[in-house]
Amino acid sequence: MSSEIIDEALSITRELDDQLRFYREIGLEDIGGSTATRELAPAANHTESASGPLKAGAIGEHPQLRNDKGAAQQAALFGDTILPREQPHPRSRSQSFPVLEPSDASLEAIREDIGDCRRCKLHEHRRTIVFGEGNPRAKLVFIGEGPGAEEDATGRPFVGRAGQLLDKIIAAIGLRREDVYIANIVKCRPPGNRTPERDEVDTCEPFLFRQLAFIRPDVIVALGSPAFQCLLRTREPITRARGEWRDWNGIKVMPTFHPAFLLRSPDKKREVWDDMKKVRDYLNREAS
Ligand code: URA
Repeated sequence: MSSEIIDEALSITRELDDQLRFYREIGLEDIGGSTATRELAPAANHTESASGPLKAGAIGEHPQLRNDKGAAQQAALFGDTILPREQPHPRSRSQSFPVLEPSDASLEAIREDIGDCRRCKLHEHRRTIVFGEGNPRAKLVFIGEGPGAEEDATGRPFVGRAGQLLDKIIAAIGLRREDVYIANIVKCRPPGNRTPERDEVDTCEPFLFRQLAFIRPDVIVALGSPAFQCLLRTREPITRARGEWRDWNGIKVMPTFHPAFLLRSPDKKREVWDDMKKVRDYLNREAS
């Protein structure tokens, strides 16, 4: 073989090598097989092709999209809201929380201010405003995401299947439902139990903050990502935050998984139990 042909072969090999390295660096892992057909196939909603299952990251998907999608799928599995990490929370206000002045004379006064609320689009489909209920002097407050069908029908928070599980969680730390206070970040049921949207949360949260300012509990348990992210003005996923004490206006916050998520993933109850033991021990210490 002439040296020219060897040089040519080496040069092609180097080029191929560089190209492969580039593909790997930008996150394209599935670079074998019939790329031509895969490039033409729409990336979304295609889990299989004639040549077999497409791997995540198949050519045709933008690598950033692939990464976001992979993260999104994983996060959804853990009940997380999918928010890009790099950007600050839209209302982060440099972590400055609303100043809580307990200016309300009663929870009833706050309820009166809400009235027959039509401030956001959630009023269009709701049957009942679910204000929140429990002990107005509670040491412990649970915050969920928003009313579901049973809550919308009854006007009471957490009375469906997730609520029954929440009752058991409360009982497990030696309290009764009437000892604590339970509310949501939005007071009207989002259609189809979807996650409340930004404008809906923005409209409703001042009422929740007034309730919290009035009750001034020792501990708030944020149930699931939307409650945690709304309260703490963060995009941090609940999977990372759960079990760690946070602070909200001088009130301790324990982020944990939402009971509805536990119904789908009962193996996560152990983590919630660990979190709730921290809450119980803190409350017992505070009381002594
Ligand atoms: N899920 C919630 O987040 N809140 C409720 O009140 C019921 C279910």
